[in-house]
Amino acid sequence: MHIGIDLDNTILDATTAFLHYYNIASGLSLTHVDVNDFYLYRLYGWDKEERDAVYNKYGHDIHWNSSPLPMAVEILQKLYTQHQISIITARPLLFREVTINWLQHHKINYHNITLIENKLQACIQAKVDVLIDDGPHYAEEFALVNKPVILYEQPYNVSVANPLVFRATNWNEVDKHVDYLASNLNLS
Ligand SMILES: [Mg+2]
Repeated sequence: MHIGIDLDNTILDATTAFLHYYNIASGLSLTHVDVNDFYLYRLYGWDKEERDAVYNKYGHDIHWNSSPLPMAVEILQKLYTQHQISIITARPLLFREVTINWLQHHKINYHNITLIENKLQACIQAKVDVLIDDGPHYAEEFALVNKPVILYEQPYNVSVANPLVFRATNWNEVDKHVDYLASNLNLS
């Protein structure tokens, strides 16, 4: 299978690093229990422009200092030997280098990497069979065009429900969903 895989809050814990640096920038002290929105900056009352200024300043440190989620590296190493792996992240091109260095540092192998916001279009073009992601909007967009998504569970995506959305609360569950889809997807 060709598997598309998101980075932030799917392969790695982005929330902890974002909270740390956004707290520094804002003077607030938000914690994980406050996180109920995919767009974390909205919890700080910032608009898109304010968020971009903070993200451009701290983004490199946020991305370098994020830790892989439990078992993500081990399971990705296994999946890499069996499937085509494309990292698909909405991070801006500004952070391409730190992203690639982080993947190398954590010994995560992949065949392609794409930094793009429109993941559905990218996945259709690259003939990706399944996307692994935490974004509720991606799960809904993909389900609408009958493309399966393995949704890595986060507080802001618990309400997404669709027969083509396979929910995973950890990487062992991701692995099981991949096995299931590899045997049951009618790949053209
Ligand atoms: Mg994500």
